[in-house]
Amino acid sequence: MIKDYETLIIGAGVIGNSIAYHLSERSREKILVLDKKFPLSGTSGSTQAWVWVHNKNPSWYAEFSMYSAELYPYLSKKIGDVEYKRTGGLSPFFNEADREKAEKLAEAYREIGIKIKVLTRAEVLEKEPHLNPAVAGATFSKIDGNVNPFRLVDMFMRAAKKQGVEYSYYTSVTGVEKKNDYYIVKSTKGIYRCKNLLLAGGTWSREIGKMLGINIPINQLRGQILVTEPLKPFLNYTISGMRQANNGEVLIGYSMEQAGFNRATTLDVIQETANLAQHYVPAIRKAKIVRAFSGIRAMPEDGFPILGKIPGYDNLYLAATHSGVTLAPLIGTLMTELLVEGETSIPIDRYSISRFS
Ligand SMILES: Cc1cc2nc3c(=O)[nH]c(=O)nc-3n(C[C@H](O)[C@H](O)[C@H](O)COP(=O)(O)OP(=O)(O)OC[C@H]3O[C@@H](n4cnc5c(N)ncnc54)[C@H](O)[C@@H]3O)c2cc1C
Repeated sequence: MIKDYETLIIGAGVIGNSIAYHLSERSREKILVLDKKFPLSGTSGSTQAWVWVHNKNPSWYAEFSMYSAELYPYLSKKIGDVEYKRTGGLSPFFNEADREKAEKLAEAYREIGIKIKVLTRAEVLEKEPHLNPAVAGATFSKIDGNVNPFRLVDMFMRAAKKQGVEYSYYTSVTGVEKKNDYYIVKSTKGIYRCKNLLLAGGTWSREIGKMLGINIPINQLRGQILVTEPLKPFLNYTISGMRQANNGEVLIGYSMEQAGFNRATTLDVIQETANLAQHYVPAIRKAKIVRAFSGIRAMPEDGFPILGKIPGYDNLYLAATHSGVTLAPLIGTLMTELLVEGETSIPIDRYSISRFS
């Protein structure tokens, strides 16, 4: 038996869920979200979850990230506490020669309304006393912070379900066909028919695209994260590679490795990560590491989000990106506008997949 939906979303990560939630606020039509595993089984369950704006380049991408960060306080009011903390973000530098680069960044950001302060050594150490005293300075922005990705996805889903969204887990999409005005989506649990099809398969987007004969240029980039035992609050800000969660654990991660879909953690990267952490914050050497995990980034070939309609296909949409935690509220809002109104309040043309052709 074929089940009918107005909109079917492939992927129940933070992106698919943000779109499902925002769309269900605006549309009473039937929406189904499918996932081959479960909602946090992909990258959204293995992330640092910074909501990060500062030092995104070029400045138009920082501006896009800023709009999303600005939506977070409002989102928490609507769907519930997602443990969003606007801690402020510090990017330390250890060489006086980097000050000039930092000043240039601050100037470029000033033009788009993002305030970046370039701090002296004394100012950085006053803000973050546990940083390595060899620090030369830092860029600082108030808008940066972090969120609990588990609560974020959970709260999106609860709110979406209340608004009528249906979910099917352990339902792997195995084929997609266009028939007249509909997409026929074949899965391991049955066949679905929908008018709008939205691809939010994260790092698996290339594989999903192949089912439709579309090249979606998303690659894999592994990152490994160390987690300390819960420590008394001692980090005031989100700093390069490090953040202290509400429960006191410090999450540390710097690595970017080409390892395909292999989610192993490896001793060499764990050691490198621990060494870097001690370089930034010497006091961390006393902490016990209780866990290491890895995640696979969904990395577009040019690093920027791929969003919008897929040209040449009616009612086929794509949202695949790195920094998806930062961008989720904005992407959910804009993709909803596109589906409901046919246009977005902020132009997203530069993020179209057509830039690769
Ligand atoms: C180590 C690391 C650190 C990161 N740090 C940050 C950070 O600090 N800030 C930030 O903003 N971002 C960060 N990211 C990136 C961010 O986590 C991701 O961009 C985001 O989670 C992507 O969400 P998604 O919904 O697109 O993908 P996912 O969460 O992977 O969801 C995609 C879903 O699609 C499903 N799926 C795939 N194929 C199929 C199929 N055929 N049928 C059915 N379902 C399918 C999968 O099972 C999966 O659940 C980090 C990532 C990593 C790995």
